Amino acid sequence: MSISFNIDTTFTDNLPADPVTHNTPRQVAGACYSWVQPKPTNMPRLLIHSPEVAELLDLNKDDCLSDEFTEIFSGNALWDSMKPYAMCYGGHQFGNWAGQLGDGRAMTITDIVNKHGERWSLQLKGAGETPYSRTADGLAVLRSSVREFLCSEAMFHLGIPTTRALSLCATGDQVWRDMFYDGHPEYEHGAVVCRVAPSFLRFGSFEIFASRNDIKTLRTLLDFTIRTYSPHLIEGDNINTDTYTRWFAEVCDTTKTMIVHWQRVGFVHGVMNTDNMSILGLTIDYGPYGWLEDYNPDWTPNTTDATNHRYAFGKQASIAHWNLAKLGEAIAPLFEDVQPLQQIINNYAPNYKQAWQAMMQQKLGLNTFDEGLVEQLMHNLEQMETDMTIFFRKLADIQASDSPKQCLNKVRDAFYATGDLKDKVADVWASWFESYVQHIKKDENNTRKTSMNQTNPKYVLRNYLAQLVIDKANAGDLSMLHELFEVLKKPYDEQPEHEAKYAQKRPDWAKEKAGCSMLSCSS
Ligand code: AMP
Ligand code: MG
Repeated sequence: MSISFNIDTTFTDNLPADPVTHNTPRQVAGACYSWVQPKPTNMPRLLIHSPEVAELLDLNKDDCLSDEFTEIFSGNALWDSMKPYAMCYGGHQFGNWAGQLGDGRAMTITDIVNKHGERWSLQLKGAGETPYSRTADGLAVLRSSVREFLCSEAMFHLGIPTTRALSLCATGDQVWRDMFYDGHPEYEHGAVVCRVAPSFLRFGSFEIFASRNDIKTLRTLLDFTIRTYSPHLIEGDNINTDTYTRWFAEVCDTTKTMIVHWQRVGFVHGVMNTDNMSILGLTIDYGPYGWLEDYNPDWTPNTTDATNHRYAFGKQASIAHWNLAKLGEAIAPLFEDVQPLQQIINNYAPNYKQAWQAMMQQKLGLNTFDEGLVEQLMHNLEQMETDMTIFFRKLADIQASDSPKQCLNKVRDAFYATGDLKDKVADVWASWFESYVQHIKKDENNTRKTSMNQTNPKYVLRNYLAQLVIDKANAGDLSMLHELFEVLKKPYDEQPEHEAKYAQKRPDWAKEKAGCSMLSCSS
């Protein structure tokens, strides 16, 4: 055996386990997790892995290309004393309390500590049923697994807090899926992603115990969480309500930072239920997510949310606030006086606003924030279909000496229908660029272009690119998966050799195509 891990059992040693050990769907009380076993697969094959994540786990290239690696990370074998478990959690889905959810198609196969002393949790997604699978099969298909693998790593390289992806294996099994829940199920290729994070605990991990009035387990879990993942918050050796308050403030802060990043790059999570909110402020659970092409704050890729647009791009900050309030309510029974929690929640909106403004100032490459300028820009961007990524990238080319007409020419590529750039629309743009150029003149900042290009990516995982990768992978061609994976490792670099293929506006055929602009939770 070449692969080896320094297994860490802190989670399972310190938190209550479900005494029942069969995988049948059921309610699990008084326990943070259930022991489970991955389902063996028919003919597992490694399709791609992330060498950067392997390194975090002290795995070398040979390890990753070994049969043993494929066996372990497809769920066919366990290394040494790995004892897989599925976590129990609940959640508010689309604004309503949904009761127990839990790891229904994910399981932690082990937690490890690497040679730098960092703790990592390794989860297989799509490795079969757990007590939390409810009516579903615990499996995942290639389509959604490619999306999770590519996007988690792309987000990391964009500098956005996220869970990581170690590997993507095809299982060789067929999975029966109704992609749009519209009565047209088909067999799809089964797949398993191994995802990696310091912790996969969610807001819903705390909500479930509060909802059951199980204050003992709630306290055990919160104390464990603070000791294990945020020990810097403990003053002296005791954990008390002040420690809980500092912890809640930290979750609010990391969540705020994550959302500001999403808004910076045009990422729409798509299912911001409280069970999909990480207590470490990581982007978690890549389902029907999408990337803004046309700048439209009301856009959501999730067809399940087509009526209300609850999780649309422009609502992500306020939904995070709502979710944080639910987390606050969940831990409130541990407080005699909830005033400190209330205060933190009240601070979220002004804190978010400040961070968002600083981010927008960076996107524009300016020394000061000008509210009027930014508001007018948002308004203009909505006047005609404008590609958000291309627009901000091109903005860095504008110089203090440019006339409004020259400015418009420089960003022209960002417009989907340049014919619309006339009359009133042309006027508002001309006037906006006049003000923008005034700012640039005033700032006299000669590192502007460099810093803007580190804020505004050139390459993002465009919805139609992900779908092209999936179509090819389904047909057995992995070349685009590997190529795009590499391109997305340097999203802020020009990479001129990849521009024509990977930094273009959405083509017309992709506008209303399933998988490109429309996705469901089915995976
Ligand atoms: P998600 O849409 O990923 O947030 O999932 C919501 C809940 O449904 C979680 O508890 C998942 O584990 C569960 N779930 C989603 N898909 C499946 C599946 N194919 N099998 C079992 N459980 C699932
Ligand atoms: Mg989820």
